[in-house]
Amino acid sequence: TGKKAFIAGVADDQGFGWAIAKALAEAGAEISLGVWVPALKIFEGSYTKGKFDKSRQLSNGGLLEFTHIFPMDAVYDTPEGVPEDVKSNKRYAAAGDKGFTVSEVARNVESEVGKIDLLVHSLANGPEVTKPLLETSRHGYLAALSASAYSNVSMLQHFGPLMNENGASISLTYLASERIIPGYGGGMSSAKAALESDTRVLAYEAGRKHKIRVNAISAGPLGSRAAKAIGFIDKMIAYSYANAPIQKELAASEVGNAAAFLLSPLASAITGTVIHVDNGLHAMGLAPD
Ligand code: NAD
Repeated sequence: TGKKAFIAGVADDQGFGWAIAKALAEAGAEISLGVWVPALKIFEGSYTKGKFDKSRQLSNGGLLEFTHIFPMDAVYDTPEGVPEDVKSNKRYAAAGDKGFTVSEVARNVESEVGKIDLLVHSLANGPEVTKPLLETSRHGYLAALSASAYSNVSMLQHFGPLMNENGASISLTYLASERIIPGYGGGMSSAKAALESDTRVLAYEAGRKHKIRVNAISAGPLGSRAAKAIGFIDKMIAYSYANAPIQKELAASEVGNAAAFLLSPLASAITGTVIHVDNGLHAMGLAPD
């Protein structure tokens, strides 16, 4: 209650970021968002037109509110690092002069929201995700690492100094980092492996430097917008249903609730961990009959 959260990676009401926002709001936190610049206009339009009102319902009868919505692009750290063609792109130019790079968003959050307690990284992008790793270009591989793993390092680098002691951060990863998932290509499996390793190192560094905790959730399959773009999500959901210890479809809210727990004082001694929230699928070694 009374905690301030910043969530990067919400652009509709279908993904994990939204579910985490909702679980944190249920627990009484104040939520601000970082929304990917190319998705900002549609998101804000749908939000103000009431398209999300049904999914905004909270159990106390109120509606999920976002105190601030910041344009953000987590592949850029400082204005100097933004290429000219991006700067002059219509949608990026329309994002305003307060900037959308990670350092600028952190500065904007500090001046408009103040110090925060909870930091959520719920974003990923890999331009060649549909290509097998063996056919992935250097550019595609590095772009996947940049958007999906370094973005988390950058967020902790820039938001860490404005987080209150006993704060916590969380990111979302996927089983493809540790098991072979054909179809999750383009270096995305590599990016998730980096994200998980970084979770440990950052837990130590940010723990010592800022007294905050750093964890990750390895989530089961969900038919979010990002997952649909990969193309085999329905197969993954069916596979999980058939093979996981708990035979049910994963609800985004189950990941939201686990995130709320990991970000709460109930998890005050948990840091540097990757927790599977996947109906147990990760633990199977052989498909059941
Ligand atoms: P989603 O589409 O709801 O979320 C991904 C978000 O990332 C989108 O809002 C998109 O706008 C944003 N984004 C992309 N590039 C960005 C950038 N450069 N800067 C800022 N934002 C950017 O989909 P999701 O599936 O809920 O994804 C959230 C996280 O969960 C991701 O890390 C994803 O890899 C992870 N995850 C998803 C699944 C799944 O099956 N859906 C499983 C395990 C882990």
